[in-house]
Amino acid sequence: MNTAANKLKALSLDVAALRRDFPILHQTVGDKPLCYLDNAATSQKPRAVIEAVERYYRQDNANIHRGVHTLAERATAAYESARERIAGFLNAAHNEEVVFLRGTTEAINLVAQSWARPRLQPGDEVLITELEHHSNIVPWQLVCEQTGATLRAVEVNEAGELDLDSFEAAIARRPRLFAVGHVSNALGTINPLSHLIQRAHAHGVPVLVDGAQATPHLAVDVQALGCDFYAFSGHKMYGPTGIGALWARRELLEEMPPWQGGGEMIKMVSIDRSIWNDVPHKFEAGTPNIAGAIGLAAAADYIESVGIEAIAAREDELLSHATEALNDLGGIRIIGTSEKKAAVVSFVVEGVHPHDLGTILDSEGVAIRAGHHCAMPLMEKLGLVATARASMAFYNTKEEIDTLATALQKAKNILG
Ligand code: PLP
Repeated sequence: MNTAANKLKALSLDVAALRRDFPILHQTVGDKPLCYLDNAATSQKPRAVIEAVERYYRQDNANIHRGVHTLAERATAAYESARERIAGFLNAAHNEEVVFLRGTTEAINLVAQSWARPRLQPGDEVLITELEHHSNIVPWQLVCEQTGATLRAVEVNEAGELDLDSFEAAIARRPRLFAVGHVSNALGTINPLSHLIQRAHAHGVPVLVDGAQATPHLAVDVQALGCDFYAFSGHKMYGPTGIGALWARRELLEEMPPWQGGGEMIKMVSIDRSIWNDVPHKFEAGTPNIAGAIGLAAAADYIESVGIEAIAAREDELLSHATEALNDLGGIRIIGTSEKKAAVVSFVVEGVHPHDLGTILDSEGVAIRAGHHCAMPLMEKLGLVATARASMAFYNTKEEIDTLATALQKAKNILG
């Protein structure tokens, strides 16, 4: 997108009006206005999402798929129409390709245990990258331990980008699966996903994408990407916590055995054996998070009503403003300098521990994250223990970023 077009799209947003959609933003912390810059950890929820969840509990609450009464039918219809909505949001070819789960973590664990575990043998490799969140590392460690397979990782360079030579060498070894993040939560790097998927497929390697940080920021089209699995979480994209989904091509889901047993995931049960339900129900054992799925669909509607391109353009502007403001302060090193980044600024302040920084910023009403961001291998690679991370959403303002900069200067004066 060129800069002028970007500017126009960002300008098309009435940010003051959009901020009114988010009740939580209008509060003070101590005596300071809340300045919420921890959106990569979780995003805030618009009224439309809160009200969709509330409406469900007020009007339609019942268990789904089993009842013949009116409320059960309404709840079932709302849940299944949420699935249809999410299939549309991802441009999936079929609604049945969307499995509702607790979030990205559960989705990746499902693929590790149900798809990968029966296929892996000693001598096989699973390929991840050094940029990954622990959710896209530990499930693979577990399944490699269970099967005798080996886990390898594509290296990252100093800018926090995947080293494409390291990727080419690793993919040529034909791992059984390549599991890669779309957008890094720790640094904001947007990976060249289409290229990676194309190259992996050229070697016959299926690809799982951890989309936790992508769905709030980018248009995701699973058919255009051509990936095999796509995992994401509702709470990162203005939806409720405890809900997310795995998208997978239908034939893959059909091949996979169930992961958890219980109600809903069966067609018939006798004491000796059971017959599994069709996909996606085969993977949704027990009463699901019905209200969460409805809230997630409302979040997808909300994102669409604002416009994902306008959101991305607005967040790019905020990223540029934050990068400039932090560089202007001096004594701050931004970690992750890729040209292609989501609105995340990870940084270290010379001589100051990020946790101390986080505490002082909180006293100024500024919420950021300090720590390893569930990416300890990445921190180790970069020679760091922790960073401070400001992560922006479209509802943040340049004034809030200036507040962050002023608070950082104050923290530097106290601690530096
Ligand atoms: N992957 C990435 C890139 C993330 O940022 C996160 C959450 O921070 C996760 C996976 C895990 O998401 P959840 O905790 O919602 O399962």
